[in-house]
Amino acid sequence: MIGCGVIGLSAAVRLQEAGFPVRIIARDLPPATTSSVAAAIWYPYRAYPQHRVLDWGRRTLAVFHELAGERSAGILLRDVTELFRFPTPDPWWLPAVDGIRRCTVDEVPPAYGGGLTFRTAVVEMPVYLRYLTMRFHAAGGRIEQGTLDSLAEAGAGAAAVVNCSGLGARQLTHDRQLLPIRGQVVLVENPGVDQVLLDESDPHAITYVVPRSTDCVLGGTAEAGAKSLEPDVATAEAIVERCTKLEPRLAGARLLAHRVGLRPGRPAVRLEPDHLPDGTPCVHNYGHGGSGVTLSWGCADDVVGLIRAALPE
Ligand SMILES: Cc1cc2nc3c(=O)[nH]c(=O)nc-3n(C[C@H](O)[C@H](O)[C@H](O)COP(=O)(O)OP(=O)(O)OC[C@H]3O[C@@H](n4cnc5c(N)ncnc54)[C@H](O)[C@@H]3O)c2cc1C
Repeated sequence: MIGCGVIGLSAAVRLQEAGFPVRIIARDLPPATTSSVAAAIWYPYRAYPQHRVLDWGRRTLAVFHELAGERSAGILLRDVTELFRFPTPDPWWLPAVDGIRRCTVDEVPPAYGGGLTFRTAVVEMPVYLRYLTMRFHAAGGRIEQGTLDSLAEAGAGAAAVVNCSGLGARQLTHDRQLLPIRGQVVLVENPGVDQVLLDESDPHAITYVVPRSTDCVLGGTAEAGAKSLEPDVATAEAIVERCTKLEPRLAGARLLAHRVGLRPGRPAVRLEPDHLPDGTPCVHNYGHGGSGVTLSWGCADDVVGLIRAALPE
């Protein structure tokens, strides 16, 4: 298994628990991965194609509902209000969420024309990635830190390779369709907010407030092709200003940290079987854009199916 982000760890847990011994090799381990930066709510964003995303997303949300009962997993179920400036049709992913409804007039601020409200999972990534790592180790899995120059290197001595290298697949598979989508967020102390707020209807910027147990993740940006991991001060100030407009209780909230991550953007998630030049089976599982958390378990289950099909009993 290449990669120790949410995609690699989820697939590794599923494979190991299904009886396939897994060794993860990864250049970066949590908290140094993109996955550690994710806001992270269940919400399909910048991942394609829609029909596969809907299926993976629905299955992942069901697992998050189960895991919300486990304290150590770091998953909170929260209400979301997504605000619209203009009349907006129902989202294509609506069938994946039970109980989603249009907001009433008094549920949206005056500047907005409408909104949607639903319950989703807020995944506290630092806690959750620790939980996945512990679960993987408890099932007998092994993790090694190291940088691979090729898929063949991972294949040496392995019955199969699962490629969950995120943006690293650009180099490992020479995949030019894979591009970074830079995301910057600001972490502040949570002043008592318990509802997720989203505004993607501003043509100039996306805005989101994601309250976790002790802090809030304020976002955001989605800059296709940008690669800098340095937080930009003016961008951070603008994020805080937009979020405070949405949730006035954030005014003066203590700033905790700035974070930047590069989402692995691709016209379609690549989840498919392949072979290395020496015939070793390989399953690719990368390119989840802004939805890696949202799709993680659905994709992990498909990886198990593909590995079962590729390896003789
Ligand atoms: C600001 C921000 C907010 C986000 N919010 C959300 C959200 O609310 N909901 C959601 O679902 N998603 C969200 N995302 C997207 C999500 O973070 C990504 O889709 C997800 O992290 C991708 O996971 P991954 O495991 O594929 O990649 P990564 O976490 O990047 O992991 C890739 C792994 O592969 C390893 N690797 C790469 N190349 C090599 C190599 N050559 N050799 C060895 N190892 C290698 C890396 O070291 C790493 O361990 C957000 C992202 C950002 C930046």
